[in-house]
Amino acid sequence: MKLTIVVPAYNESEGLRDFHARLAAVLDGLDLVTEVLYVDDGSRDDTYAILCALRAQDTRVSTLKLARNFGKELALTAGLDHVDADAAIVIDADLQDPPELIPTFVQHWREGCDMVYGTRASRAGETGFKKMTAAAFYRVMERLSPTPIPRDTGDFRLLSRRALDALKQVRERQRFMKGLFTWVGYRQLSVVYHRDPRHAGQTKWNYWKLWNFAIEGITSFSTAPLKAATYFGVLTAFAAFVFGLWVLAKALLLGDPVRGYPTLMVVILFLGGVQLMALGVIGEYLGRLYVESKQRPLYLIDEYHPAR
Ligand code: UDP
Ligand code: MG
Repeated sequence: MKLTIVVPAYNESEGLRDFHARLAAVLDGLDLVTEVLYVDDGSRDDTYAILCALRAQDTRVSTLKLARNFGKELALTAGLDHVDADAAIVIDADLQDPPELIPTFVQHWREGCDMVYGTRASRAGETGFKKMTAAAFYRVMERLSPTPIPRDTGDFRLLSRRALDALKQVRERQRFMKGLFTWVGYRQLSVVYHRDPRHAGQTKWNYWKLWNFAIEGITSFSTAPLKAATYFGVLTAFAAFVFGLWVLAKALLLGDPVRGYPTLMVVILFLGGVQLMALGVIGEYLGRLYVESKQRPLYLIDEYHPAR
């Protein structure tokens, strides 16, 4: 039996050696053939040089260098596409996901699970605001998406061969990995762990990116916003109709000299706003359709060096 650990790395030179040392210690204790596949996601620092050095030292290391920075989701996809093992584990290179959990994942996999994922019991080193927005996001997703996405679950997980094969068939460009992993189904199991703060280096996330990530998640797994736009439109049309009746009745019964500028403005502005909002929602989906229809390759590979 063979296990491949897929590690996406983007500008991680500061912590990579420590990461590999801790990971290697865990892998030494496993009675499996193991491979560590590092995906260099177009790093601008010397991450790739370090990866090559690690490969020279450790025969288990494979390196995959992407042509440029494609983002974590695509780096992961590239890595998972290159797995020929019986199972794969996805782990971040910043030691936020403890490698020591890997034997537990493997044990559950041996007992027949297809997907074993880590659920964060705590998020050390993250601000209160980040925790609050994350919680709100998971709650909204739970309501909106027909594919239930487990709370507080990142990409840290084990995938069996058939889960990997299933995921390989999903070739959509807008990849909300958490959702895709769940979408696959099969036998899934959650393992609770404590998430550590980043070991070294900087997080690549900021609030603008997180906001876009949230929109990505919602639009790729739910069409509820489109429906909401419809119902909101129906409601405003109904309100406008009632208001129209009232204006007409007032004019007929009381006679109305030319007044009503404020009401006119209010109605125009309100309806204009509603229309723009609905258009925006449609635009979000249309834009994704456009990107999807171009059928560009998901990622491009610069160099691939399998383990020796
Ligand atoms: N990462 C990547 N490409 C990117 C951004 C991040 O491969 O464009 C990798 C990064 O090197 C790390 C993992 O994805 O191994 C998680 O990134 P980060 O720690 O910044 O995210 P967070 O843990 O804050 O969600
Ligand atoms: Mg991190």
